[in-house]
Amino acid sequence: MGVGPARVKCAVLPRERANQSSAVIGGTMLVRLACPSHHISSTLLRGAMVAQGQHQGLAGASAAASVPWSLLHSDQPAGALIFSVNQKKDLHQMAEPTIFSNPLEKWIFHKTESVFFVDFVPKEDADVKIKEILDQLETVPEDKREKLTFEDKCCTGFVVDDKSQELKVLCSAHCLDHLFTSGNPISAHEIGDLYDINIICDHYDHSFRKDKTVDKIRYYSRAHIVQIDCEKDLILLNVSKKNVLGKNGRACRHSHPALVPSKRHLEPMEKVLMVSWPPFRPRTVASGKVSHCDREYADTSKTDLVGYTMTLVEVNILSEPGGSGAPLLDADANFTGVLHGGADGCSWFISLPDICQALTSWGILTQ
Ligand SMILES: [Zn+2]
Repeated sequence: MGVGPARVKCAVLPRERANQSSAVIGGTMLVRLACPSHHISSTLLRGAMVAQGQHQGLAGASAAASVPWSLLHSDQPAGALIFSVNQKKDLHQMAEPTIFSNPLEKWIFHKTESVFFVDFVPKEDADVKIKEILDQLETVPEDKREKLTFEDKCCTGFVVDDKSQELKVLCSAHCLDHLFTSGNPISAHEIGDLYDINIICDHYDHSFRKDKTVDKIRYYSRAHIVQIDCEKDLILLNVSKKNVLGKNGRACRHSHPALVPSKRHLEPMEKVLMVSWPPFRPRTVASGKVSHCDREYADTSKTDLVGYTMTLVEVNILSEPGGSGAPLLDADANFTGVLHGGADGCSWFISLPDICQALTSWGILTQ
């Protein structure tokens, strides 16, 4: 039997579970005893566990400190006792992730408030002009041109600037690439003449779904196109904050914080997440790993009728129509790509240097 001062070492082992609205942040606390058979006071053990739990951002460790005294006399060959720790927290109050606490996916999830659904709707009198452009470019088979003159086109967008009274929303351009090539680009002004641009924020859509009124109608906020890069597949939209529709037809009272460019050097096998909004499916989140950082466009497609010049990041996640424009987020929840498309079990994202080059030339980023 040992005598003298007792020493206790604690560590919180990761073990996490969560549901959509709240997270159960759990851990298993491993307590190593300096001497397995030593009689340690419950006060000493409790103090060590609480201190370690707080150090690792696990306030719920205090719950584990109410250790049954009998456990202290357990005959553990490795000199270890194990207790579980659980604590419920509101999702939006979660601490930043560490290797022990919140999983990256759940930290990223609240970034959905920066993501918008975007719908380009042809104006009533625009069909003749659209048909004229289609006939001139000849990138679309003749039998499909008529349908395109009346068809709306959807994509995902996300806020890249929220500093003024207006939000700047970045999205992809290729949903309109029947109207341009790199050699025959179309201007933002021309698109604005042909299409109404409707958007919905995550808060509005969430309240719309909770409303059980029969025959309810989904209303949209009106955005305006201010920039387009036909070579890099990027569009910049502008919407006045007071025109972002919220609950009950009033301006949305929630914030739509701008996502910022990643500061990380992207490498293969790095974990990333995509937050997309295909039609009527908000908060479509997928996680995966980077499989290649700099694909050429020709590596991903046999044909390139537009003449895209961007570099693409390849990620092993699936994507779908309407998700284009979705942000690819790194472990800091900063964007590191914009969804261009996908096939054969992977997706390609416009690379960060291409995005930053466009945003800098448009005055959104400073060098
Ligand atoms: Zn909102």
